[in-house]
Amino acid sequence: MHNLQHNLDKVLDRIHSACDQFQKPAPQLLAVSKKRSASELREAFSLGLRSFGENYLQEALEKQSELTDLNIEWHFIGPIQSNKTRAIAEHFDWVHSVDRLKIAQRLAEQCPEGKVIQICAQINVDQEATKSGLSFEELPEFTEQVLGLKNLRLRGLMAIPAPADNFNAQKASFLKMAEALRQLQLKFPQANLDTLSMGMSSDLEAAIAAGSTIVRVGTDIFGPR
Ligand SMILES: *Cc1c(COP(=O)(O)O)cnc(C)c1O
Repeated sequence: MHNLQHNLDKVLDRIHSACDQFQKPAPQLLAVSKKRSASELREAFSLGLRSFGENYLQEALEKQSELTDLNIEWHFIGPIQSNKTRAIAEHFDWVHSVDRLKIAQRLAEQCPEGKVIQICAQINVDQEATKSGLSFEELPEFTEQVLGLKNLRLRGLMAIPAPADNFNAQKASFLKMAEALRQLQLKFPQANLDTLSMGMSSDLEAAIAAGSTIVRVGTDIFGPR
């Protein structure tokens, strides 16, 4: 656990090297803290991390209640059942895993007064039967409908590609995401879509090469779960 500083330094080095190598701006680093304790998050915060990604609502709410003194930006990145949308709308700044219109509608309706939730459309980029997410074909209509909802700001796209063991295969999926965002930006210029949430511990370099703006890193910061 005392490796946190060391691990974080290594992740930041990898991000900076990839940005140099591929001539890309630095993405935001989202620390994925599922299954980590509130005290581990507190330590990560003390090292400068400010954005944390959580997958499981109940677990996240418990940690949030212990960390109210810290100015954390909370990101929900896990699968969303519709009976969880109210608590997610109340307790998270970002939701990366919006994979169907019904979820977006509920988040919009249940969003507290005066708050705007930043959301990403989750894409099933490799068309895996076991993964949730919109198809690229569904994206234009989904976008048009979400842009009509109050209280939500659609920022862009998120994906968890099929595992691939080499850089080129990883990058191929991420390039599909970048191209889909580019198409959406052309179709909906007024939306100012600016986010590609992609890249995890094992593939963040390939994601950066393809233009990631948020990498979501758990294992390589906090250790194996
Ligand atoms: C767990 C998780 C991550 C982090 O994965 P690591 O391989 O631990 O870096 C990123 N994104 C999502 C959606 C996750 O569920």
